[in-house]
Amino acid sequence: MSEFSELPGTTDVLIVGGGPAGALLGCLLARRGIDVVVVEKQQDLERSFRGENIAPRSVHTLRELGFGPALDAHGYLSIDSVTAIERGRRLLRLEYGKFPLATLPIDIPQPALIGIFLAAAQAHPSFHLAMGTAFTGLTEHDGAVTGATLRGPGGAATSIRARVVIGADGRFSKVRQRSGLAADITPMARDFLSFKLPRPAGWGDDGYLMIEDDRHLVVLPTWPDFLRIGHNLPKRQLGELRAAGLPAFKAGIASLDPRLADLVEEHITSWEDTSFLEIFTAEMREWARDGLLLIGDASHTCTPILGQGVNLAIQDAVCLAPVLAGALSRGGDRPLPAATFDGYVAMRRRHKTTVTRYQRFQEGALAEKHPVKLFIRRVRFATLNQLPLKYRLLDRVVNAAHPIDPVDIAAGAPALVPSVRSGQR
Ligand SMILES: Cc1cc2nc3c(=O)[nH]c(=O)nc-3n(C[C@H](O)[C@H](O)[C@H](O)COP(=O)(O)OP(=O)(O)OC[C@H]3O[C@@H](n4cnc5c(N)ncnc54)[C@H](O)[C@@H]3O)c2cc1C
Repeated sequence: MSEFSELPGTTDVLIVGGGPAGALLGCLLARRGIDVVVVEKQQDLERSFRGENIAPRSVHTLRELGFGPALDAHGYLSIDSVTAIERGRRLLRLEYGKFPLATLPIDIPQPALIGIFLAAAQAHPSFHLAMGTAFTGLTEHDGAVTGATLRGPGGAATSIRARVVIGADGRFSKVRQRSGLAADITPMARDFLSFKLPRPAGWGDDGYLMIEDDRHLVVLPTWPDFLRIGHNLPKRQLGELRAAGLPAFKAGIASLDPRLADLVEEHITSWEDTSFLEIFTAEMREWARDGLLLIGDASHTCTPILGQGVNLAIQDAVCLAPVLAGALSRGGDRPLPAATFDGYVAMRRRHKTTVTRYQRFQEGALAEKHPVKLFIRRVRFATLNQLPLKYRLLDRVVNAAHPIDPVDIAAGAPALVPSVRSGQR
């Protein structure tokens, strides 16, 4: 890790945000010998209730990239299946081993996942990480982004020049705000409250969607021995929920999933044990400007349905690394033109659109309360459950494919490109 005062004044790639997208991209670029600086505003990697479930496609990708041994060494939980149950009646069951990819999703805390990426990156001398360092603004020249201004621990200010600034700073991206690129923010009809409970012995490695009219719970086994539970609530009604009191909240959970009644009674002792998430999507016509690109949640915030946010972030980093390496290997010291990223953006937009389209459809179905629509939903779920093709149909959403560059698969065999700082170009 670099001290703030030791940060280079110039780099090839400045990544703002050390979440899954920024940390993995930094690692993949450093493997290729590219000079890269990652700045993360938090002092540590701790974060509660964030993307702990990694979709099968990304589990597969991370193993291809050589992260399997580090994941195994930390430990994780494999999830076998997810079952939708309405008022005690099983509607739909998906077993992940039966999808064409035949890889199980895993649950691992986000700090551990990011720590694995950063530890691997720090083996490479061209990688610089500054924790406790916040992006404050962009520097520009002739309409192109040339770098960023930063604030370090204790409030010290500095700036870094870069051929490209990558905004990987999440759903409330400041880089996005400062870039002037317009984001279409669409609030979903409902928000989410999350909490964790100890996982009872014998629960197994299965996830559940527990439905009752327009209310539902997502119940996921979580590493090492928890259940992670998401409860939908009407938009901006956290205040009303709290006003009705904790006992009413607990009774609502217990009616959706009676198996949780004793656990919530014992372990949810105050609202502090829960975490609120405002659900919205952010969609952008442009993800890039000359000298700047947004990735991960900064470019395409999605909803928690099917746990796809980390998957999209990982696939963004994997698809972008070879594009950046190719562009930087051509030399020069000018900001990378926005057109560099046209192919990348088109490819990633297809994946993101498939995911958000399905999420909207699913959220719409789960928010129904008219008896006729509830009947249609029930029939739809049950029909899908009977279809032998259900795994192929949903595979496009759960396991969207992407090309992997062989250089990234051969961990530790990077293709070196000239570095701005070493003055090789
Ligand atoms: C409650 C909750 C549950 C979720 N569950 C799942 C799940 O199970 N599976 C899943 O796939 N997805 C889940 N998601 C979504 C998932 O967490 C995100 O999609 C994913 O983390 C996006 O990765 P990212 O790297 O783009 O952004 P983030 O993970 O948000 O990382 C952005 C980073 O940028 C840093 N940053 C922000 N501003 C600045 C600044 N000015 N300067 C420097 N650094 C800055 C932040 O501190 C953060 O570390 C969940 C999200 C939430 C909120």
